[in-house]
Amino acid sequence: MRRIDQPGRQQRSNVIDIDRDRPALSAWRIVYEARRAFTLSTAARETPAIGTLLKGRFRPLHCLAAILVLAVLFGCAGDGSRGSSTTISDCLEPTRANSADIRRNLSRIQGAGLCYRQQQVYEGRFRWTFHILEHQQHPQGPFWILPHDNEDTAFDVAVQAVIDYGGGLLAVDSGGQRNFLGQDPNRNFSRSQAESRRCPGQRAPAPGYSQAILDHYQDRHGPVLALHNNHNGWSGNGGAGSISMARESVSLRAYPGARLNSNPGVQASRSNISGRNASRISSTGTSGSTGSSNSSSGSTKGNSRLGDEDNLIFVVGTAPLSADPALKRRVAALNAAGLNVMHKQLNSTNFDCSLSDYVARHRLGEYYNIEAEHGDRQTQQQMVERLLAVLGIERLSAQRRSSPFLQH
Ligand SMILES: [Zn+2]
Repeated sequence: MRRIDQPGRQQRSNVIDIDRDRPALSAWRIVYEARRAFTLSTAARETPAIGTLLKGRFRPLHCLAAILVLAVLFGCAGDGSRGSSTTISDCLEPTRANSADIRRNLSRIQGAGLCYRQQQVYEGRFRWTFHILEHQQHPQGPFWILPHDNEDTAFDVAVQAVIDYGGGLLAVDSGGQRNFLGQDPNRNFSRSQAESRRCPGQRAPAPGYSQAILDHYQDRHGPVLALHNNHNGWSGNGGAGSISMARESVSLRAYPGARLNSNPGVQASRSNISGRNASRISSTGTSGSTGSSNSSSGSTKGNSRLGDEDNLIFVVGTAPLSADPALKRRVAALNAAGLNVMHKQLNSTNFDCSLSDYVARHRLGEYYNIEAEHGDRQTQQQMVERLLAVLGIERLSAQRRSSPFLQH
């Protein structure tokens, strides 16, 4: 197939409309549009003020006007925006993707007829490439964000999730590495200079990058979903990872999954935390199974790996979980389904420009990140199935089976 870039296809997001920072956003949008127009039309030759400046026939007022135009075009106006542009292709042959992730999953992608598209976002010194896979018949299902290109298990699991549940995925291309040009893609969500300054891990404000990713949720009703892989343990217990159920802090609280029948391997090594959860677990129902296969989706059949400290659902709220009834119920339901949950309470000082924090800070809806250890594909797949069962999202095969047209 022929690649067709569609600069206009990337529409502005409705998601943003509920945000409290609308004035700031509007400001960067103006810059975004101005820079985009500049990029697309090589406005340097067409804008009189700039043209005058370049030809050396400027007077002081013209010079001032030209400087102001340049300031807007290049985002020096004070809000930190640098301007950005984005292109997104139509469906391409997945064999054309320069991606080890796509190559590794090519037979499944082709077998399911998934649409492969490529998106590019230009912002400051960054030229980002996103690989997008979508279910052609059921594009409205769950949509997964994969910020880290070195987390291959997460990518493989996401492909299967798109095949099983519809929807799609977006994977940031960092050449197989975690970081891209020294920037962690999951510390790159911000709207302004002021917001970016809160995050040591972000090198420059990235409103265009943030918007381009979250635009994929416009017209979708489900939560923002992310998949990550981590390393075993954490430094405090001799491990190599940084996220673990065993690593709590002032703002991070661990809520271990319930011990399930025939699941003696699920650990509850810290009885105080298990006790803290007991009342929540007993007050909720089980998740119920919507799976159509003999997999452990939503069942009480155990996988001891679900209880591993590195396998967890990460959620973020702006209040303590005890003061957030909706999220509290959700966490209890996830625990009842055998899933570990880590809750971060976002406050005025710990925003880190991650997708999870950004979604919570701007109140963009529900967010779940499935963290699993590198290589543990089976467990991460089960976590996807159990999370989606808790959220009431059915597999495509279950949807077909429940169709009244197919019942006798
Ligand atoms: Zn990651």
